[in-house]
Amino acid sequence: MFDQNYKFTCVDRFLEYVKYDTRSDEEAASFPSSEKQKVLSKLLVDELNQLGLADAHMDEWGYVMATLPSNTNKNVVPIGFIAHVDTSPAVSGENVKTMIHKNYRGGDIKLPKDNQLIKAKENPDLKNMKGYDIITSDGSTLLGADNKSGVAEIVDVVNYFLTHPEVKHGDIKICFTPDEEVGRGTEKFDVKKFGAKYAYTVDGQSRGEVETETFSADAVTIKFHGKNIHPGYAKGIMINSVKMAASFIESLPKKTLSPETTEKREGYVHPVSINGNEELTTVKFIIRDFQAPKLKKYESMLKKLAQTIVKKFPGSKMEFIVTEQYRNMREVLKKHPQVEKNAIEAMKRLNIKPIMQPIRGGTDGARLSFMGLPTPNIFAGEHSFHSKTEWVSIQDMEMAVRVIIEIAKVWEERA
Ligand SMILES: [Zn+2]
Repeated sequence: MFDQNYKFTCVDRFLEYVKYDTRSDEEAASFPSSEKQKVLSKLLVDELNQLGLADAHMDEWGYVMATLPSNTNKNVVPIGFIAHVDTSPAVSGENVKTMIHKNYRGGDIKLPKDNQLIKAKENPDLKNMKGYDIITSDGSTLLGADNKSGVAEIVDVVNYFLTHPEVKHGDIKICFTPDEEVGRGTEKFDVKKFGAKYAYTVDGQSRGEVETETFSADAVTIKFHGKNIHPGYAKGIMINSVKMAASFIESLPKKTLSPETTEKREGYVHPVSINGNEELTTVKFIIRDFQAPKLKKYESMLKKLAQTIVKKFPGSKMEFIVTEQYRNMREVLKKHPQVEKNAIEAMKRLNIKPIMQPIRGGTDGARLSFMGLPTPNIFAGEHSFHSKTEWVSIQDMEMAVRVIIEIAKVWEERA
């Protein structure tokens, strides 16, 4: 039974965490990509220590890890909860000024800075928020709900369990990671040291989300080699690789296979950059689909198109390089159905309708799943990420706390 008199701490914690500017940095080669992330991570270690997690610490890379020890005599597998401390480098996260819009009545939400609107039309979840209290920034920065709401919820769960020792659970492992937003959140993640058998990232949007499917992803680099010579003496000699790349791009399918023309379960082939000169032009692609074998199909299509271009420019050459990025975590999670089932069971017990849809992107959990730690993603309540109109409702945050507690309980009961 959940203690109905429990005073949630997640909102106060969240309002504190967003004061820390923790933007990661796309350009940096260091790890973590920005030192300032560690300032919040240190604070989190202190908080976990104060709550009573003796082993809470931050490693040299900025990962915070801690254990809430089991209080049951059953043999329960250790499960983990993970959130990231960094925010997107795309929008300022400096000097975040929060606002709480109490008792939302419907319609657009107005932010003072530049009269920006959080539009009901663009935020379908708002219609489920009537009567709720919604946290936003003042519109001059992002909010940081992605993913500090998840961090705050997990710390609140620790607080709940430690103040309610009668609620039984196995070992609960906690990790707060850096650099998720720049795609490097798992780079130095020590799965063995973490010690969980299964985990959940708490970084989803709508109440009820249990995400067990991501894209599979490759990157393709194509280098067109032409032949340069002074343009004044180029007749019959020059092979311009800029023109090769241009005709290659022009030969791509136009109505299908693009992010701007696809949705749901459709994959795509997406050129992301083109750089070069007469001698050498490099075109980079990202390739996405929910089924890994389809990536191979898209890649051989690209290769054929590129070979056709080489034929059109006699004397030219091309290189075709495929790099695997990540794979649909479904491939791993289907072998461990209890991870998803227990999350769904927890939601049902709280009268939440589980929402299961594939993510048209990747998650740290997808990478972790292939590193040996099966990790679906559950909701934290964050919305409109990476923007100045980011928002989260207090009631969703508190419900996420309850869901995490319930997941831990289900694992204990079913052990
Ligand atoms: Zn996130």
